[in-house]
Amino acid sequence: MNDERPMNSCHRCGATAYKPVVARSDKGVMQRNGQYQCVKCNLTFTDIREWRDGSSPIATQEKT
Ligand SMILES: [Zn+2]
Repeated sequence: MNDERPMNSCHRCGATAYKPVVARSDKGVMQRNGQYQCVKCNLTFTDIREWRDGSSPIATQEKT
């Protein structure tokens, strides 16, 4: 167990925070579009695993 990174951190830059992406809709209203963005490297993702592990939830098959 040599993983020194926190449980939730960006796999690219190591930032430990992300924020919801806010985009302007057709009506000109600023609202969340369901995506998130790393506060440091601006990596955009929809599943936290993409940000944390760098893997797509589609490509990653978890055994349940
Ligand atoms: Zn990052």
